[in-house]
Amino acid sequence: MFIRNAWLAATAMLLLAASSGCQHRTYRILTDLPEPPPGLGPEAPAASCPASCPTSGPTPMSAAESQVLLCDSNDALWAPECREVAWRYIVIHHSATDTGGAASFDRLHRLVRHWDELGYHFVIGNGSESADGAIEIGPRWYKQKWGAHCGGTPNNEYNEFGIGICLVGDFRQHLPSPRQLAALSRLARYLAKRYQIGPERIIGHGQAPGATTECPGQQLQAYIMTTLHKEIASDQSQ
Ligand SMILES: [Zn+2]
Repeated sequence: MFIRNAWLAATAMLLLAASSGCQHRTYRILTDLPEPPPGLGPEAPAASCPASCPTSGPTPMSAAESQVLLCDSNDALWAPECREVAWRYIVIHHSATDTGGAASFDRLHRLVRHWDELGYHFVIGNGSESADGAIEIGPRWYKQKWGAHCGGTPNNEYNEFGIGICLVGDFRQHLPSPRQLAALSRLARYLAKRYQIGPERIIGHGQAPGATTECPGQQLQAYIMTTLHKEIASDQSQ
């Protein structure tokens, strides 16, 4: 648990709702990432927050809609109101679709796959349903809930302790857009620093033990193994 009130206030100022579609529901869009304050991290002292996370969020507006966060309804929703998970991995995915976003993936995960809600913690848009490079923060992140994006690993380790980031697009033949890559870099570097996750634990989905998937596509996988890992390593050598 973290003492984070001051940081939270600063963080809230940096969060804006989606610039489009902000009528009755949207995922919160992260437009900037603040530096974690000194003292935050896995060894930070406990604050007076509940020991257990909520198991559900706001009431869905209909069965077809996800648990979603209202535009600017409560900036405090960004920060988990419960003990933060000691995340060990960052697992990067592609959607293998040309279009998409957190809300439509959420519907897919609920209605087709019969999962509890959007399986990823974050979705990085490509301009189809959210802005190119926008980082959509899913409900799981607010609740610090295990992921539903990397099943089948021993002890379900990569779901239990893996932060799932999905980039919208199919990256077998080409890279994500420059804005998507910039967003991925910013988000991964932030999370790696906050949870002390080394480059060897920042992986494409197909690198997870036992995985037999092409996700996140050859091109994005190569980018993760070269550019992104170098960035993380450079951050951590300072
Ligand atoms: Zn995947």
